[in-house]
Amino acid sequence: MSVAPLTDSYGRAIRDLRVSVTDRCNFRCFYCLPHGEPPSAPKEMMLSYEEIEYVSEIFVSLGIEKIRLTGGEPLLRRDIETLVRKISAIPGMHDLALTTNAFSLPERAQALKDAGLDRITISLDSLKPEVFKKMTGVDVLDRVLEGISAARQVGLVPIKVNAVIVRGYNETEVADMAAFAREHDISMRFIEFMPLDSGHDWSRADVVSGREIREMIGHRFPLVATRGERGSETATRYRFADGAPGEIGIIAPVTEAFCGACSRIRLTADGQIRTCLFSKVEHSLRDVVRSNASRAEIIEYIRSVVMKKEPRHYINDAVFEQPARTMSLIGG
Ligand code: SAM
Repeated sequence: MSVAPLTDSYGRAIRDLRVSVTDRCNFRCFYCLPHGEPPSAPKEMMLSYEEIEYVSEIFVSLGIEKIRLTGGEPLLRRDIETLVRKISAIPGMHDLALTTNAFSLPERAQALKDAGLDRITISLDSLKPEVFKKMTGVDVLDRVLEGISAARQVGLVPIKVNAVIVRGYNETEVADMAAFAREHDISMRFIEFMPLDSGHDWSRADVVSGREIREMIGHRFPLVATRGERGSETATRYRFADGAPGEIGIIAPVTEAFCGACSRIRLTADGQIRTCLFSKVEHSLRDVVRSNASRAEIIEYIRSVVMKKEPRHYINDAVFEQPARTMSLIGG
């Protein structure tokens, strides 16, 4: 029986689910969780693997094509490979990805691949140890680089690497990171700094715009826009004009918002659906699932929540207020 895909009230099809599996993180990125985690909620508030599997299967039956496991740091959740195995086995699942800081990847990459993970995205904000430490709060650049090599060795390719670019920290490294992408055949994603930091220190002046990033790379390595529909992708993508390996993606939610084509919703580790990174409200799928609701009732609930998806974010409006939960709690 074919089921109508999830669609919001603006006609956007929802195809992409991000599932945060933990609020915990072992890094202290200044733009995310500089002062550490808030006291953790009791374990019973968190979705179990069985619950995540159950709702993921329902989401896939409603047309979700891509699931990304994230956090917090997803590799801190015990035995995450078990969850990867369960989700990758869901009939109709096409694309299972995971975003990680790569600290544990040297030891875990093979098991994740064996469990059925399709793709991996690794966060890496600097190639200089001192800047890496300043941005992430931990002095472990070498391990992250090892993690990238491990991902390649086990075939978790193509590898995406995310760098949040913040003025005064790492904007002078943008072209060097593009060189790194060429050398290692990586899809390097440059992300604008968003107001999602728990320190509430975000300032517009610190945002290095997508345009600036494009120009800085283009001076050293001329870029050619990748042809074809961007669709609901967050990144505008470029290849190197000289045919070198690797790819550049620029994610500019602040200066070039792409809300009109957004196909994403998020599920937090404690089972709340967020229809936008900047949502002011959350919807407790956990409570619905635990109320012994039937499958049909859960589907009806999910559809009703998706209909409430915001038309756009309001970062650039005078009335903008930063959401209470940070990226690490929402699931980036
Ligand atoms: N711990 C994992 C990691 O480091 O990739 C997954 C979670 S992390 C919250 C996901 C992504 O969100 C990372 O690439 C991180 O750089 C990005 N992020 C966090 N806070 C951000 C902010 N204020 N602006 C832009 N990106 C942010």
